[in-house]
Amino acid sequence: MDVKDLKTYFYLDDQKVARAVDDVDLTVNAGETVALVGESGSGKSITSLSIMQLINKPGKIVDGTISLLGQNLLNLSDKQMTKVRGNDVAMIFQEPMTALNPVYTIGNQISEVLRKHKKMNKKQARRRAIELLKMVGFPRAEDTFDEYPHQLSGGMRQRAMIAIAISCEPKLLIADEPTTALDVTIQAQIIDLMNEMKEKLDMALLLITHDLGVVAEYADRVLVMYGGQIVEEAPKKRLFKESKHPYTSGLMESLPSIYKEEERLGTIRGTVPPAHSFPKGCRFSSRCPHAMDQCFESNPDLIQLDHEHSVRCYLYTDE
Ligand code: SF4
Ligand code: MG
Repeated sequence: MDVKDLKTYFYLDDQKVARAVDDVDLTVNAGETVALVGESGSGKSITSLSIMQLINKPGKIVDGTISLLGQNLLNLSDKQMTKVRGNDVAMIFQEPMTALNPVYTIGNQISEVLRKHKKMNKKQARRRAIELLKMVGFPRAEDTFDEYPHQLSGGMRQRAMIAIAISCEPKLLIADEPTTALDVTIQAQIIDLMNEMKEKLDMALLLITHDLGVVAEYADRVLVMYGGQIVEEAPKKRLFKESKHPYTSGLMESLPSIYKEEERLGTIRGTVPPAHSFPKGCRFSSRCPHAMDQCFESNPDLIQLDHEHSVRCYLYTDE
């Protein structure tokens, strides 16, 4: 999947415009795990909802292309997009209980997707749903088929969500903070499972997280988002070894020491400015320890340091 120049704005009552996603480019290839990281409010979730075209008023995708399987998803009708969702792109949310329907059994919910998108009959859908439940780690899948969401633990519900998400073998799986609501021990199991499914089905996996520990473990490539824009992109190893953007470095410093050699527990002072009142210059300038005069004048472009590493910061431009 290729996202180019994506802009998603929210038109607020008081005539203000919140530029929640502002010119984002993002590529995720088959078999690859790309992490989109940043604090809450940086625009990660709006980016993923834009890809799914689940943006509601007053929000609007105002520009860009989202290419998947040779078509621009932004040109599709609502009906065509409904087909794409689930079939070609699936999403896993932070809180599985909001995505599962409490009044239907787990089996029912998986079967429904298969019957709708794969045109299976009831019997075929049941057989496939049980297979899928086994694949995602339910040993007594026949029993689980007849259980309701509230009968499962949080981790099990997330496994059921994964079964639904992969039921049509999508090309792209988007996971938005998939483990934030779970216990630490369960978190690793769930991400392991998503990774395993990614390999098995040769999907592209877009992992949205604020947790650099998760990134360190699972991502191939990382995009760091701040103020609705990508501020740094690099392969994971390079990002952890030689991050360039002061924001990325700040995030790294707030990581516990197991990911670094020495212990430096810092946090970035301040918070992400709201998307309707970004500073005039660099959007990180209000928090940046390296801010120079020009940083308050204009917003730097994302510049390519080499073929795999780019950064949006005046510290790396020649002027
Ligand atoms: Fe900091 Fe300036 Fe770089 Fe922005 S452009 S991150 S304010 S040094
Ligand atoms: Mg979010």
